[in-house]
Amino acid sequence: MIPVTKPFLPPKEEYENYLTGIWQRQWLTNMGPLANDLELKLKNYLQIKHLLFVTNGTIALQMAIKALELRGEIITTPFSFVATTSSIVWEGCQPVFVDINAETLNIDATKIESAITDKTVAILATHVYGNPCDVEAIDKIAKAHNLKVIYDGAHAFGIKINGKSVFEYGDISTCSLHATKLYHSIEGGLIITKDADLLKKLAYMRNFGFNGPEAFAELGINGKNSEFHAGMGLINLKYIDTIIEKRRTLTEHYQKKLINFKATAPVWHKEATNNYGYFPLILENEELLIKCNQLLQTNEIFARRYFYPSLATTLPYVEFKPMLITDDIASKVLCLPLYYDLSIEEIDLVCRLLLRAQNN
Ligand SMILES: *Cc1c(COP(=O)(O)O)cnc(C)c1O
Repeated sequence: MIPVTKPFLPPKEEYENYLTGIWQRQWLTNMGPLANDLELKLKNYLQIKHLLFVTNGTIALQMAIKALELRGEIITTPFSFVATTSSIVWEGCQPVFVDINAETLNIDATKIESAITDKTVAILATHVYGNPCDVEAIDKIAKAHNLKVIYDGAHAFGIKINGKSVFEYGDISTCSLHATKLYHSIEGGLIITKDADLLKKLAYMRNFGFNGPEAFAELGINGKNSEFHAGMGLINLKYIDTIIEKRRTLTEHYQKKLINFKATAPVWHKEATNNYGYFPLILENEELLIKCNQLLQTNEIFARRYFYPSLATTLPYVEFKPMLITDDIASKVLCLPLYYDLSIEEIDLVCRLLLRAQNN
């Protein structure tokens, strides 16, 4: 069986070493030494000034919306994971969908302005597959209309634009450290902001708003993460460059083998690095996608239609809104298996089957 993804697991002994320390200290959660160390090491690795390690990528988005005190309409992309939209609705705001760019698969910045109303308060955009949005254009629009910007960077761990972390853009960026993501702490998330006051507020919010044992500074929630998760994050950080390098090799092998396959890859941001978190292909049409997916499944290979369907046509709590580009792309995009343990032979098999499906 070849799944679409498999979590990276480091040597068990390394995790056991961290467990020994946890047992000795008997400090399990509430920003213990491992969680603090992880924050320091992540700031250093990502080259950013401020960052908070939180429960998961979804709570990171919800806390971002809450901390910016957003109320009203938030312009967002329908081509993302459900948490991008659900967090907007969960926080009592209205998602307003703007279609994506057919090449980058990110929100089409040229279509944002026409969606702005007197109720618009923010833009929440996803760096889809880690490919950065048109951050300069979005920044310009936000400034002109006095809007906040949040980036869902769940896929964008380690990505840089002209040497600068993609997490430095927007008022707040978030990341997911879920087991299925490129870099993980089993469950986990990050909140990044350049604004020290906003960071302080978010840090209070993460811990019920506590400001001392009997005092509160803010409305808060439980957004903390545990020493067990931090330990996994610390170990995986040691391997992340090796993981990315391996995924690069696997991706290049796919590209070589699929030269004659009727599909294209998303057009990547020209000044940005890649983290090889996914291997998405936009197939010629949905018919080919269904043929390919069936043949793969018969052979116990599980690619994933990610993202499908569009968030604007599938959620019972948002208005049904078909969109030209998003619906077309969602119907024919397929993410092929890509993970650290995947072998060249397995890629060869996947590619042989795809070409066979196409030529049948
Ligand atoms: C995974 C993901 C999330 C949610 O992150 P969790 O850590 O699973 O809560 C949000 N947005 C996108 C785009 C994701 O892929």
